[in-house]
Amino acid sequence: MSHRIERIALDCPLPGTQRELLVHRFGRGEGPKAYVQAAIHAGETPALLVAHHLLARLSDADIPGEVVLVPFANPVGLAQRIQGHHLGRHDLDSGVNFNRAMPDLSDAVDEAVGEGLGSDARTNVAIVREAMAEALAGLRMAREGSLLKAALLGLACDADIVLDLHCAQRALLHLFVDAALWPQAADLHADLGCALTLLENGTGSGLAFDHACTVVWRTLQERHPGKAIPDACLAATVELRGFADVDDAAAAADAAAIMRFLRRRGVVAGDPGPLPQHAGEALPLEAVGFIEAPATGIVTFRVALGDVVARGDVVAEIVDPAAPAAADARTLVFSPTAGLVHELADRRFLWQGDTVCHVAGREPVADQRANLLGD
Ligand SMILES: [Zn+2]
Repeated sequence: MSHRIERIALDCPLPGTQRELLVHRFGRGEGPKAYVQAAIHAGETPALLVAHHLLARLSDADIPGEVVLVPFANPVGLAQRIQGHHLGRHDLDSGVNFNRAMPDLSDAVDEAVGEGLGSDARTNVAIVREAMAEALAGLRMAREGSLLKAALLGLACDADIVLDLHCAQRALLHLFVDAALWPQAADLHADLGCALTLLENGTGSGLAFDHACTVVWRTLQERHPGKAIPDACLAATVELRGFADVDDAAAAADAAAIMRFLRRRGVVAGDPGPLPQHAGEALPLEAVGFIEAPATGIVTFRVALGDVVARGDVVAEIVDPAAPAAADARTLVFSPTAGLVHELADRRFLWQGDTVCHVAGREPVADQRANLLGD
């Protein structure tokens, strides 16, 4: 067993302030590499607790491959507290979402090595990974938030497996993966017991972390169709239910499920056992109804997580406290699609346009917001 700890200093512009990333490295490096990070959206506590349980399990495991674990991926965001309220999703300095606008290394890598790629996939993977590291080293960045993103991508970009641990508002356990990685990711989905996997086509996502790990391979495949360029990185965003779902037993079970998956992929030694039976489906992100509040007011839900609704069903009501008469106060909220209610708003006073809930269906939903991942 090998366990090393690294600390990566972030160059904070503030005098007297220094932040760092804590990085655990496990394994002998003789097999596949997995990279796991928790809570790049710094307030997503369920991810932190799962990372804690993973640390315990990895410390006891035989790891012929390599596992890199970053147990808190966003020390910048962790510090963003204003009068007791934590704000960990967007960088207060820039306003940019910590999990969007990741560096896109595609052009730099293509320019450096695209034409030189050949017919041997293994050789190409090694060449591209080296070029990704060089492209990252060549980025010019000044802000702490940008340095953080580049540091995290630098730890992940040569991994075979990338698990970016998040949570949603109130939600069922689900994954986001690039559509091209399905059914490759079906064992991850099954081992975790996901209620749902959402398949992204890569457009309009603002380059989230998982996409930043896969976009180089996708771009090279498109630009050099004759070359042997595999999907060398299985990257997934893992939504570990909702913000308040911080439960020791559930987190331990999630960590055990991740270990089972890492065994199945040969990163960690040992028998993963049979692939669990699961009921959850993989559905296109375009088929999710992102239902927004049609009015401002108090939201009362007519549905619960896990409910299956029909198109046109009422999922919630918005109660307007400014209505002159109680009889005029309620606005019904309808589902634009048939499907599974997998995410609900956690706030109960919504402004017009805020998310009420998400319903995952099978057919693309018309008149959706342009950026399906939102901000
Ligand atoms: Zn998140």
